[in-house]
Amino acid sequence: MFGLTDIFLCDKAFMSILLSSVEVYKNECHGALLGYRTKNRIVVEFAIPFQSAERKPSEVVPNWRRELKVIEVLPKLVQLQKLGYFHSHPQWGKTHGSSKLSDPDKKWIGEGDLEIVVAINDAERSVSWRQSKNQLSGTIGKYHITIAGYYKRKRDNRIMQYRILCPYAIGFDYTFV
Ligand SMILES: [Zn+2]
Repeated sequence: MFGLTDIFLCDKAFMSILLSSVEVYKNECHGALLGYRTKNRIVVEFAIPFQSAERKPSEVVPNWRRELKVIEVLPKLVQLQKLGYFHSHPQWGKTHGSSKLSDPDKKWIGEGDLEIVVAINDAERSVSWRQSKNQLSGTIGKYHITIAGYYKRKRDNRIMQYRILCPYAIGFDYTFV
């Protein structure tokens, strides 16, 4: 019953997450995740970037999730569930962005919500997309990106890191050269 859960990123969701992280670099991007769940899998079909008037390169606006009005409307239109949110941790000066949840992130993640964190840093060289540990990482242009997924379990309120699967990223690596 409590088998390992993984997070499956569909091609469209992967591209949106990647492009919105790159677009606002070196600021943070925020957005919502829509999809569905099966027994041992959370399938992310769409990632909807939040068009904020104000973007800041830090954790200073922890409550952006409440401002995402699109999340109330979209699931009704596309027959998908709201799964949670994504946001990026960009490099700031010489400090590298991390794919770990920050303390404010841990505080704001809702029960039963998925949170995808994108670490985006200046790439020293280009590398292929691969799965390592529970994360997905690789380069696009001059950016190095690591994507990690977290889920706050309802039964005990623990935040778990789940493996991210994205055959699109791995299989179509040459796309990003
Ligand atoms: Zn964060």
